[in-house]
Amino acid sequence: MSQKINTNKFLKNVRIGLWRIEVEEGKLPRFYADEVMDELLGITEEITPEERFAFHRRCVHPDDMEMFLEYSDKLTETQTEIVYRYIHPISGEMFVRCAGIRDNSVTSGISIIGTHQDISETIRVEKEKEAERRLAELNNELRQEAERNENYYRDLLDMQSCGVMAYTLPGHRVIHMNAKALQMYGFKSVEEAQQRLGAALRKVYYPQTDTIKHLKKLRNEDDMVDYECVIGKGESNECHALAKTKVVVIPSGERAVITTFLDVSDMITLRKALKQAEEGSRAKSSFLFAMSHDLRTPMNAIIGYTALMEKHWGEKEVTAGYLQKLKEAGNFLMDLIGNILEVARIESGKETLTETAWNLCNLEDTLDLLLDRDIYKKQLTLKKNMELQHPKVYCDVLKIQEITMNLLSNAVKYTPEGGTIHFTIRELPYEREGYALFQTVVEDTGIGISKEYIPHLFEAFSREKSSSESGIIGTGLGLRIVKKFVDLMEGSIVVESEIGEGTRFTVTIPHRIATANEYIFEENAKELPEEIKLNNVRILLAEDNMLNAEIAMTLLADANAYVELAPDGEKALSMLKRATDGYYDLIIMDIQMPHMNGYEATKNIRGLPDGRCRIPIIAMTANAFEEDRKRAIESGMNGYVTKPIKIEELISTIKKILKS
Ligand code: ATP
Ligand code: MG
Repeated sequence: MSQKINTNKFLKNVRIGLWRIEVEEGKLPRFYADEVMDELLGITEEITPEERFAFHRRCVHPDDMEMFLEYSDKLTETQTEIVYRYIHPISGEMFVRCAGIRDNSVTSGISIIGTHQDISETIRVEKEKEAERRLAELNNELRQEAERNENYYRDLLDMQSCGVMAYTLPGHRVIHMNAKALQMYGFKSVEEAQQRLGAALRKVYYPQTDTIKHLKKLRNEDDMVDYECVIGKGESNECHALAKTKVVVIPSGERAVITTFLDVSDMITLRKALKQAEEGSRAKSSFLFAMSHDLRTPMNAIIGYTALMEKHWGEKEVTAGYLQKLKEAGNFLMDLIGNILEVARIESGKETLTETAWNLCNLEDTLDLLLDRDIYKKQLTLKKNMELQHPKVYCDVLKIQEITMNLLSNAVKYTPEGGTIHFTIRELPYEREGYALFQTVVEDTGIGISKEYIPHLFEAFSREKSSSESGIIGTGLGLRIVKKFVDLMEGSIVVESEIGEGTRFTVTIPHRIATANEYIFEENAKELPEEIKLNNVRILLAEDNMLNAEIAMTLLADANAYVELAPDGEKALSMLKRATDGYYDLIIMDIQMPHMNGYEATKNIRGLPDGRCRIPIIAMTANAFEEDRKRAIESGMNGYVTKPIKIEELISTIKKILKS
């Protein structure tokens, strides 16, 4: 056997060396190698096979030596393979795949042949691939962890009952917006928030004026501002929040604004409701207190003067004075009850406008009629001034009169003797076609109103001083009614006042200008009868209250009418049925009566088979509301008067109905 084994080009290229080891009892092992093998072993000069064996053993990586020896032992029995590290004297550590097999053709000793391949490059590539795979795995794990973290923090933030929002500055790129913040801004998603953030931020209002100043100063990292704001989402939809804003640098290095919002809308609504309830209950108790006084005053007068009249019965002049006082007290009671009803009605939201054509100049007559006596008593000077280009307008006459009367009666009440009251109505320029704008100014030189009280001026039952404190009687309802009526007419009211100097109320209301035709029609409808007698008119009066019945019968009899009384609706119906057609000229019907009320009785009468079904019926009731009047007309009645009976009004209604 030659010392060197021939190699071919191929084996050289794939860096495979061939070897043979021979082991014989009592001799050193011999290691034969081809040219490539020697090169792979790092042997550069001629050496003996025994030296080669020793050389190779020296170069096996010490950490792999144990594994290599095990492998060598196995080789004597079976074909086997190993990959181990070999320390090449020139190029350093290399990976070697070694495969060997026993050559059984040799009889003396043991001979093993095999290959030795340098697989360093393959291992390197494999290792690189493995490293890449690990890296990818690691990245994936990191990404999953980051995702888990993000979800966790998002859930955590979304669970918060306060809103959290972060966006970059400049750029307004939304970094985060939790569920509550989206809800507070009215966004469905973060994407929508991103699209509309600019507009949304412009709809945030800061009630405290210095907040914007502080927010603008938020330049440096870690600066923080606490403030209140209102996030507007639409006309009525707004969210009140307590907010904290801070500027931070986020991991990407950008500057961002982080804001947390605590939604306090419910709290504010509750606080308002509580305040209103407290104020309402305070106003009601002071009202009850005032009422018990105010009701007692006229009642005392009525009882007192009635007793005096009894005592002085027959002394005509003395009792005439008492009668006058009785009348005044009665009128005051009526006003009081009227005002309370009015306010109750207004507060229930049922008030509507009933507009007719009217000449605003008539207001002057109303004033004279109602105010003259009080003005004279207090020696006040009333200066009136009317500058009207379009006095004929469409308006709710009663409400206009009531507004003016309330303001003027206040001016009279709260101006001491010798003072002056200016009353002016003027027309202001107005751009609305067919309409005119009217300004009413009531100005006095009276006691004035304090700055603290002005915000409460239009509250129901509110007075600056009680009747007992000021000695001036009132219920604190007048201005409440005025304000509500002005609002109903889409007008405005302004007050200016100085304690001890006087007060000026300015009311501005638009009215539609009445056409000439409309005006004439309405005026004709209001014509009053010249004669206040009801000669030979036969009236059936249905009234269950005997006191009211007596008053009505006496007043009507005084006007020369014949009156027959029915104590309820049922009786009225049977009396009418029993009488011949045309016997009664008219029925005056109370509404609330036992057995059969006025509406039912009217319905039954309207169902009668002959001419009696057409008998005129006038409702006479203490229900003073517009809808009661409507209901009376709807149930088939022809007219309507309210109690207490004003005889002129009753007679004029009867005459109008009998004429038609
Ligand atoms: P009433 O229900 O009988 O009108 P009132 O006059 O007390 O009672 P308002 O007309 O609502 O009630 O006025 C409320 C309060 O405003 C008054 O009690 C008074 O303190 C103050 N006030 C109103 N007008 C004047 C005025 N011209 N000068 C001074 N104080 C006024
Ligand atoms: Mg008043």
